[in-house]
Amino acid sequence: MGIAFNRKFEPMYGQIEQVSPLIRRLVAENPNPFTFTGTGVYLIGRGELAIIDPGPPLDVHLDALFEGLGPDERITHILVTHTHTDHTAAVPQIKERTGAKTYGFGPHGPVPESDPLDKVSFDEYFTAEEREEFEKVWNDTPDELKREGPDVHFVPDIVVGDGDVIEGNGWSFDVVHTPGHTSNHVCFGLREERALFTGDHVMGWATSVISPPDGDLFDYMASLEKLLARDDQRYWPTHGAPIDSPQEFVQSYIDHRLSREAQIVAALSDGPATIKKIVPPMYADVDKRLWRAAANSVYSHLLGLYRQGRVSVDDAQGPMLTSTWVLNSVASPE
Ligand SMILES: [Zn+2]
Repeated sequence: MGIAFNRKFEPMYGQIEQVSPLIRRLVAENPNPFTFTGTGVYLIGRGELAIIDPGPPLDVHLDALFEGLGPDERITHILVTHTHTDHTAAVPQIKERTGAKTYGFGPHGPVPESDPLDKVSFDEYFTAEEREEFEKVWNDTPDELKREGPDVHFVPDIVVGDGDVIEGNGWSFDVVHTPGHTSNHVCFGLREERALFTGDHVMGWATSVISPPDGDLFDYMASLEKLLARDDQRYWPTHGAPIDSPQEFVQSYIDHRLSREAQIVAALSDGPATIKKIVPPMYADVDKRLWRAAANSVYSHLLGLYRQGRVSVDDAQGPMLTSTWVLNSVASPE
């Protein structure tokens, strides 16, 4: 599939780098299969700064951040693209140390209690070596990073929505609501550089994970189209390197999703199947620890097909992660 991924990115952990006239970046050392090399935290401006997605609550990260600022500099605005802990967990500490106000679309959407039986596991696909390696990585992970996922505690001081402008000292942002990865995801367009901070909506190293019910593929596709209509020159995603030729890149993201849908339909054309069966061949080239997330993305596709009446499920209570999915035959014309 034709996405020009760029996985060449060597972050300088613990060092604030000037990456454009108005943008500095500090990458937190929280690499994992979801965050790639870690959370890229951006500082915008000079003197009075905006910080975009403060990152994880690691002391070493916060020390690097505050020690790296100039003597007359302070953080006045905390901008949040969306409420996942690798982006927001350090918000309380930074707020407390700076008094800065937080800006975001809103709290995380409802997180319904999930049915403990409605889970897909791919553990049996892991080889003994992989299991050992994954376990070792997990055991070496600091406790602060072990609870990654939705941040249900974040509530923005200032609620911002599509079309709003956030202005500071020498910089200004357009707020672009881009639901899909989460329902409250926004991108921030730095007007002075025609640069868009895309959070996890568009990333250069991988596709975005869509986990229903808060994640929604239909919204996601509309949010990609929304970016196509803009004329940004460069994207700065939270994870990995910046993206040049962003419109082309977004188009390849859209094409990729459409081809994933075609793959799912093709998989079901051989007969009814579960997500557990569909994922491994489809994501054979992806880290197996991401397969559970991939299962969610496949689920989001199937929910879309279900709503269109193109697939059905065997469960009386409606579609679930563990359902067996059936491709509906299209009535052929007389
Ligand atoms: Zn995220």
